[in-house]
Amino acid sequence: MKQLATFVAGLLLVSVAAAQEAAPKVPANRYVRCGALIQPETGKVQRNVLITIQGERVKEVQENASAPAGGQVQIIDLSDHTCLPGLIDTHTHVLLQGDITAADYDEQLLKQSTAYRAILGTRSVRRALDYGFTTIRDVETEGADYADVDLKKAINSGVIPGPRMRVATRAMDVTGAYPLSGYSPEVPVPHGVQVVDGADEGRKAVREQISFGADWIKVYSDRSYFVRPDGVLDDIPTFTLDELRAIVDEAHRQHHKVASHAMALNGVHNSVEAGVDSIEHGNYIAEADLKTMAQKGIFYVPTIYVGEYVAQGRAAAGAKVWLEMIKIHEDTFHRALAAGVKIAFGTDVGGFDWGINPAVEFPYMVKYGMTPIQAVRAATSSAADLLGMQNDVGSIAAGKYADLVAVKGDPLADISLLQKIDFVMKGGEVHKSAAH
Ligand SMILES: [Zn+2]
Repeated sequence: MKQLATFVAGLLLVSVAAAQEAAPKVPANRYVRCGALIQPETGKVQRNVLITIQGERVKEVQENASAPAGGQVQIIDLSDHTCLPGLIDTHTHVLLQGDITAADYDEQLLKQSTAYRAILGTRSVRRALDYGFTTIRDVETEGADYADVDLKKAINSGVIPGPRMRVATRAMDVTGAYPLSGYSPEVPVPHGVQVVDGADEGRKAVREQISFGADWIKVYSDRSYFVRPDGVLDDIPTFTLDELRAIVDEAHRQHHKVASHAMALNGVHNSVEAGVDSIEHGNYIAEADLKTMAQKGIFYVPTIYVGEYVAQGRAAAGAKVWLEMIKIHEDTFHRALAAGVKIAFGTDVGGFDWGINPAVEFPYMVKYGMTPIQAVRAATSSAADLLGMQNDVGSIAAGKYADLVAVKGDPLADISLLQKIDFVMKGGEVHKSAAH
């Protein structure tokens, strides 16, 4: 009898616990008050905005609304700040710590283990988020294998802070085209890419990289740059058009996109012909290729600042072409804008030191001819389009992630202010809080 009574009581307890668990768990609303909110798609600036956040996502955006009263209501007061959607850098290398010269690069690949590079990578992703980049596309690990997949996993599991990541893993180039190079044939050295020759090897590498976690496929389409007498930046194309087409076709068959490092005439042309999704760097792009890019919706990720950053060092090491490339790049940027090519913000940070805020790119984009709102759009809604994440990030709107940054002053009046972001929220969680 006694045993039965205990048994019944036990059942009761279980059913109460089950009922509690089954009750729908609606997280309490939280609120952010912004003095101003920049909406990149329309270019509209809303004043005195109340953003309601539920869980990871935005529930509502209201102008001139007062927050609900009550002691339990949590309001983050940014009424003296301008808010923007979390920034997106579509060209980063979290596993690289600056490579002005070949020696800097070789040192990292020869003397640092992948494990050590991944540890440094945890610092890079935290810095990205500190700067206000809540989403990044990391376009290859530079010899650190699949460590980008692991960094992304650690961020998504809440082990380390960092932005949302789209990763390209190892990237591809042909034999003899990518560092490390210049070593004795008897000495096996690592390469900063997966070396791939022929269409079939290209398809196989795409399958392999995707199976190990690549979101994007990255190819290097040209190398060895020189300025022709007529001012055109020429190159040696790496892959044949057949090889590139095979890689792009295989990636697209698997619903993955392709980013192509292409800085000059032939690399860009072959990439555009093969149907890649973004041209990285694009220091020189022929007029006909700009036209095709605009027609096909191929993105241009210009990475202006890094060119100036590496130019002095590389010129001092004997490669004067890097100084000439700066002027050519500026002209190409103007022509791309005029041709209506879609442009996404990308910096190549990692190619320069992660201690430098990649938002330094913004003033260059404006100097090269964008309006401030165009530059902001490139780093928010346009970048989200390129990444296929337009339903989740790129603007502050109901249903999207509560990825939000804020700065004192008006970045549309002074774009350099974006280097001074002092509030960062990712997925409704405050990562960096404005000092009051
Ligand atoms: Zn790069």
